[in-house]
Amino acid sequence: MAKEKIVILGGGVAAMTSAVYLTENENWQEKYDITVYQLGWRLGGKGASGRNPYLGQRIEEHGLHVWFGAYVNSFRAIETVYNQLNRPDNMPLSSWQEAFKPHSFVVLQEFIENEWQTWPVDFPTIDGNPADGTLDLHFWQLLEVLIAWLHKFIETLEDEIEQANKATKLQTKKSRDRSLLQHLATEITDAFDDIEDEVSDFFNSAHNELKEIWSSPKILATQLKHLLSLRSNDKNLQNPKDRLVVWYIVRKLKRWLNSEAIELLDENPTIRRAYICADLAIAMTTGLIKDKVFSKGFGSINNIDFKDWLKKNGANEKYSVESAPVIGFYDLVFGYVDGDFSKGDVEAGVASLAMLRLMLCYHGGVMWKMQAGMGDVIFSPIYELLKHRGVKFEFFHQVEALKPATNSQTDNLISEIVMTEQVSLKSNSYDPLVNVKGLPCWPSYPLFEQIEDAQANLLQDNNINLESFWSDWPEVYEAKFGHTLPTKTLKQGQDFDKVIFGISVASIAHLCPELIALDDKFKQQATQVKAVATQAFQLWMNKTDEQLGFNYIPESQERPILSSFSQPFDTWAAMSNLLDKEDWPLNNHPKNLAYFCSAYTCDDYPDKDVYDFPAQQKAIVKQNALEKLNREMQPLWPEAYHGDEFNWDVLYSANNLQGESRFDEQYWRVNVDPSERYVLSVTNSSQYRLATDGTIFNNLYITGDWIKTGVNAGCVEAAVMAGMQTSRVICGLPEKISGEDGFEPDGAI
Ligand SMILES: Cc1cc2nc3c(=O)[nH]c(=O)nc-3n(C[C@H](O)[C@H](O)[C@H](O)COP(=O)(O)OP(=O)(O)OC[C@H]3O[C@@H](n4cnc5c(N)ncnc54)[C@H](O)[C@@H]3O)c2cc1C
Repeated sequence: MAKEKIVILGGGVAAMTSAVYLTENENWQEKYDITVYQLGWRLGGKGASGRNPYLGQRIEEHGLHVWFGAYVNSFRAIETVYNQLNRPDNMPLSSWQEAFKPHSFVVLQEFIENEWQTWPVDFPTIDGNPADGTLDLHFWQLLEVLIAWLHKFIETLEDEIEQANKATKLQTKKSRDRSLLQHLATEITDAFDDIEDEVSDFFNSAHNELKEIWSSPKILATQLKHLLSLRSNDKNLQNPKDRLVVWYIVRKLKRWLNSEAIELLDENPTIRRAYICADLAIAMTTGLIKDKVFSKGFGSINNIDFKDWLKKNGANEKYSVESAPVIGFYDLVFGYVDGDFSKGDVEAGVASLAMLRLMLCYHGGVMWKMQAGMGDVIFSPIYELLKHRGVKFEFFHQVEALKPATNSQTDNLISEIVMTEQVSLKSNSYDPLVNVKGLPCWPSYPLFEQIEDAQANLLQDNNINLESFWSDWPEVYEAKFGHTLPTKTLKQGQDFDKVIFGISVASIAHLCPELIALDDKFKQQATQVKAVATQAFQLWMNKTDEQLGFNYIPESQERPILSSFSQPFDTWAAMSNLLDKEDWPLNNHPKNLAYFCSAYTCDDYPDKDVYDFPAQQKAIVKQNALEKLNREMQPLWPEAYHGDEFNWDVLYSANNLQGESRFDEQYWRVNVDPSERYVLSVTNSSQYRLATDGTIFNNLYITGDWIKTGVNAGCVEAAVMAGMQTSRVICGLPEKISGEDGFEPDGAI
């Protein structure tokens, strides 16, 4: 039987995951011939990183990347890769356990009465391997975790309020609440005629002994928890009585919160924070029940922004909706259309499902930090494994267009793929990795010595970026060599049978205009699933976090990952754990490494021939970064300032630059290219996401964090699930993908 030829366009997480699973079966080469086409010199896409040979082989990234302990599919995939790669024990990062370390210390910044206050959160670690987890939880379990949180926060609140010498007992408000209580208690007693004894006893007594029952919110929350554990067989909360009781109790708790805690919120951070968490849990519980998410699926609330949904369900607008945890979530998913920080927009279903999964489904740490650049930890091992398995890689191939068959009577097919061959290599293949202290890594620049000399010189002399959409390389090349860059056209039936399109959503309009002209749903996806530019900078420093004045150190001694801070660059992560993977002189090396990241404000992307667009945008990012240091970091790094002036000497400079120019030796970037823009989940967009085989083209498989996966958000887990789904449609593997159906009516969440 002739082998099926599969071409994979792009080498990001999704495309590479599809390749890993397509080649899982050891006889795969009897069935398939697989070639990856990647623009520029490295795999990774938005997750690509590079080593800078001129500055200590430092790690330069697109922005901060962390994994979550709930990334069940991602950890399964990476475990498979490391296990099969079987690196020698004495190699750095020889196993996935060495490559990832659990991380629990998260910090949120609150802006209260014109001052930044720091809210450190040390999440508990939970035994187990994230790869053994599941995202397929039923609605009841999700609700259970919400109520467990609520219980915890109510306990804290009651104690704290007591300490603050406030009345804690709900019956102090008895006269005010009495008629409502009586009404609802009757309703509940009627509703609970036939439920389990314990719960029924409890609620029956409500009828006669209101005073006892409502004596303490703590008891109420405990009873609610208890009810949930008794009813855990009712996976999708089918029983209307249960819903009524849950709804009723959380509303009562809400009333208590508002009457007892509200006056203390500004002055008492512990009460404020517990209030925010309790209030959010109540609003989410109320909303999930009221909007019938238990039967309609999380997709049913994607027609509203998460913050608006919280408001609609009674969350306190000032304290809870605009709270640090909520803003931190928007920051995490860069959830700002066009990078306009006043326009937060994330689908309520996507956000609430993601939050619940991230909190409920994790193993190890709530987060996991990679122990080198994302390229080194993810894409080098994947590349080495795939190469070893016999997958072919063609670097420096820039896809320009996918073309539909014009004469096909029955099938819609991709008939041609047109690419530019960006460079000519000295030999037939390109060996893309460099060795940094024993670790195979991607460089920040092409390995020019493998490119024909005249082209390599021209590229360097003109500072050409082969990853840029706005590159003037075609003009520079033509001016020098008198002819255009060569192109390659792959033909269906001859060069390929199936196409995996792993390039990101914002590229579709540029690369597939003829396809979307024929396929309305594909067009809708290309236009409705939006993406946003991002910006990032990294600082190598002479002082540790403590020396800079950041003194919140948890028991674990972990360095913070901090969010909901001032815009831009709302996120700071202390990443000095990476320094030992870099290669600095022993007698003069940085002591600290800080990553900053956020969405980037841009609502207008010019045509391809506006060559200076990326440089202009990068200059703005530099200004943003300088502003951040000059004006914003003092609350976190007080010791980095002389008076109100940032002390530039805290920045490491290998070449001993002075003053603000020390920043020039740091790293900053703007991610504006279509495929580099972060994929958003704006209100009402999930419905336009197609499945991997959802276009009208029978030989086209779309893959990436922008397709319909069951996560529907821009993250590694969604990209991995997409890659798995692509492979499964083609070859049946992997059989199991966790968490695919959360958005479906009656789906296993
Ligand atoms: C700054 C930033 C920080 C992030 N932080 C996190 C995080 O902490 N945790 C998390 O889970 N997720 C994070 N993400 C999201 C995560 O990076 C993405 O979800 C994931 O990398 C998407 O993978 P993908 O395969 O869908 O697409 P991509 O990574 O976009 O892959 C597309 C591929 O196509 C290639 N390509 C593009 N154009 C062409 C062309 N014309 N010809 C050939 N090849 C082409 C690209 O080079 C790339 O290889 C972050 C994203 C950004 C931008």
